[in-house]
Amino acid sequence: MKILSVNAGSSSLKFQMYEMPEEKVLISGVFERIGIGNSFYTIKINGEKIRKEKDLNNHKEAVEYLVQELLENKIIESLDEIKGIGHRVVQGADKFDKSVIIDDEVIEIITELNPLAPLHNPAAVVGINAFKELIPNAIAVAVFDTSFHQTMEKEAYMYALPYEWYEDYKVRKYGAHGTSHKYVANRAQEILGKENCKLIVCHIGNGASITAVKDGKCIDTSMGFTPNAGLVMGTRCGDTDVSIIPYMMKQAGLTYQQIDDVINKQSGLLGISGVSSDSRDIEAGIKEGNERCILAQNMFVRRIVEYIAKYYVLLNGVDAICFTAGIGENGINVRKEILDRLGVLGIEIDEEKNDVRGVERLITKETSKVPCYIIPTDEEVMIARDTYKLIEG
Ligand code: ADP
Repeated sequence: MKILSVNAGSSSLKFQMYEMPEEKVLISGVFERIGIGNSFYTIKINGEKIRKEKDLNNHKEAVEYLVQELLENKIIESLDEIKGIGHRVVQGADKFDKSVIIDDEVIEIITELNPLAPLHNPAAVVGINAFKELIPNAIAVAVFDTSFHQTMEKEAYMYALPYEWYEDYKVRKYGAHGTSHKYVANRAQEILGKENCKLIVCHIGNGASITAVKDGKCIDTSMGFTPNAGLVMGTRCGDTDVSIIPYMMKQAGLTYQQIDDVINKQSGLLGISGVSSDSRDIEAGIKEGNERCILAQNMFVRRIVEYIAKYYVLLNGVDAICFTAGIGENGINVRKEILDRLGVLGIEIDEEKNDVRGVERLITKETSKVPCYIIPTDEEVMIARDTYKLIEG
């Protein structure tokens, strides 16, 4: 059965087509700069990458090219072969604790949640509608980044703010990256050979979050009401004394929009280092002795260690710690610095095994009290799996 896994952003559209249940990738690609000029797309097929410059005024035009490529490359002979399309949706709040088949009511609820994800949810709906128009016979499924976190208990997801803010404005922790955390947790369960286990999953990319998982269920996660909570990220500050916000608005005369930009786009690694939000640039700065890059890296690592320690206690021990996403999979030095600081837990890194990028691997010694793994994430396959499962019933 052919299933498309789709991730629509405001100006981009990523896709991957699978033969299910084999999970064989038939074609993948990304449309970029949709509606903002200089648009193009790249597709990967049989290990070959092709780039084409095309005018893409909207998502529908991107889907038209996608359909054309599928037919021209003989991935499909007719559109009816595409049985399902799984769409990534960032915010499902407390409305969706699992993936669902999309109908008008689901679209209505996703749209109602726009204020909680003003950039992402509207883009997802644009993507959903574009595919519905051009491939109407495929069953559309919504896979939410938040649904994996719906198992958190109330004491974990509430903020110590007036209760009415929760009731009237939905202010609570929702988390993010749930599809990735779930994929990595499932994979760790397979590696450990048991379902009942305690895991700490570190999704560390430009956006970053850590989740405590018990018996396959999320107990707590570091992202919050928005994705700007918890860890120090590329450009987001993560956990911060919230009273700094009104203080700076008053002292520096910053508007709501300016302060929102600062905490989301000018903070984190970029804000501290003044150099870049990209961990590779920070590491290059460290090599040159740049003090602010050194500080940025140390703060970044320290916050991750604090969360691992917190979740170790919360879970009452842990069976494995897993690293994933851009830095988690590729950041050899970052992983080493994190694990070195966790020596108190009896964790012993194996530096030779850790000297690797982007492959699934154990990176601690046999004698380490807690095994730590790199597990490259695969959100696309999770979307395809959920879509396939819902279609099969
Ligand atoms: P997001 O999906 O949140 O935009 P990614 O998961 O792609 O982010 O992660 C981006 C981060 O991964 C960047 O900070 C980048 O420096 C880091 N990264 C990617 N490749 C490498 C690498 N080879 N070595 C070190 N860091 C890397």
